[in-house]
Amino acid sequence: MIFLDAAATTPVRREVLEAMWPYLTGEFGNPSSHHGLGEAAATALAAARATTAKAMGCRTGEVVFTSGGTEADNLAVKGIALARRAADRHLDRVAISAVEHPAVEESARYLARVHGFAVDVIPVDQYGQVSEEALAEVLGPRTALVSIMYANNEVGTVQPVARLAALARALGIPFHTDAVQAAGWLPLDAGTLGVDALSISGHKLGAPKGSGALFVRGRTRIEPLVHGGGQERGRRSGTENVAGAVALATALTLARDPAERVAALRDEFIEAVLTGVPGAELTGHPTERLPSVASFCFPGTSGESVLLELERQGVICSSGSACAAGSDAPSAVLLAMGIEPEVAQTAVRFSFDSTVTADELRQAAAAVRTAVGGVRSLRTPS
Ligand code: PLP
Repeated sequence: MIFLDAAATTPVRREVLEAMWPYLTGEFGNPSSHHGLGEAAATALAAARATTAKAMGCRTGEVVFTSGGTEADNLAVKGIALARRAADRHLDRVAISAVEHPAVEESARYLARVHGFAVDVIPVDQYGQVSEEALAEVLGPRTALVSIMYANNEVGTVQPVARLAALARALGIPFHTDAVQAAGWLPLDAGTLGVDALSISGHKLGAPKGSGALFVRGRTRIEPLVHGGGQERGRRSGTENVAGAVALATALTLARDPAERVAALRDEFIEAVLTGVPGAELTGHPTERLPSVASFCFPGTSGESVLLELERQGVICSSGSACAAGSDAPSAVLLAMGIEPEVAQTAVRFSFDSTVTADELRQAAAAVRTAVGGVRSLRTPS
């Protein structure tokens, strides 16, 4: 099997499993307990927080451990918008890009449905990028928060986050970025990016599902979504997932710079597919894209048939985001980029982890040629 669906999830890395193992077994203490076992857990949690803070270029007190990317996005979008409006009732708008993951989009929709916010959706260009002009157009004195992802999960397009964040911050508007797909591939330094909040998820980079973190800058007010014992400085109650935090921190440390090697392999793969499959179209930005994502449309096929054919040949990939998989509707991300619905329905995404090899991608490109050719010949009556 050649697994090219790493943007959906990745296996737990052996080093990560070894690092977390003690906190699932012998060192199983609750970090709030005042005995040796509890203190050992608290020490491990503090070390994981320090490592995560280093990876995010922030202070330890600015890291909130969560159950993953979805929770981090919810906490950022709802928590910051609600806290800002509580301080000033005129702040009743949130701005998000047209290509956000549902974790951000649905959080914004919830703010509209339940709390009366208005949602400004910032359009993207044909490559899925937000321009400074498009962002400036929607920002106003009522904007409570901007949320624009760092890198897109379906097409891999990377946003000019530092420039967009600077624009919002110049107007005093907090800026959140969903860095779930960027983590492990792009620098996460919150200072350089100039963001006020940034979400990451463990299972995209070799830690288990159910681990994640949100960076929240210094004094940014944030309304907690989960109430209880006041853990995570009151921003996220609940007994901490010590093993998950250790796993996330370890995965972040291991994710050191495979980016250039993988980007070169991605480019060769894109070239092989575009030259080998007549009519294949690359989706997303040609250069400003994640090293780990190559996404295409194959007009004249159906994405689902190509996927099935590829799986028969041992290549596992996806039609877009795992969250939208199984739905017949064409991807909202591709539609926002101006791709026609019948073409959007032919989308296939290949996404790699850091272990991907040239040989695997050569085999995958050959499989794509056969699969697309096969599906097209079945659809074209002779
Ligand atoms: N944001 C993006 C861009 C993602 O790709 C994903 C997962 O696919 C998420 C958020 C949600 O993360 P999690 O699966 O950890 O809840």
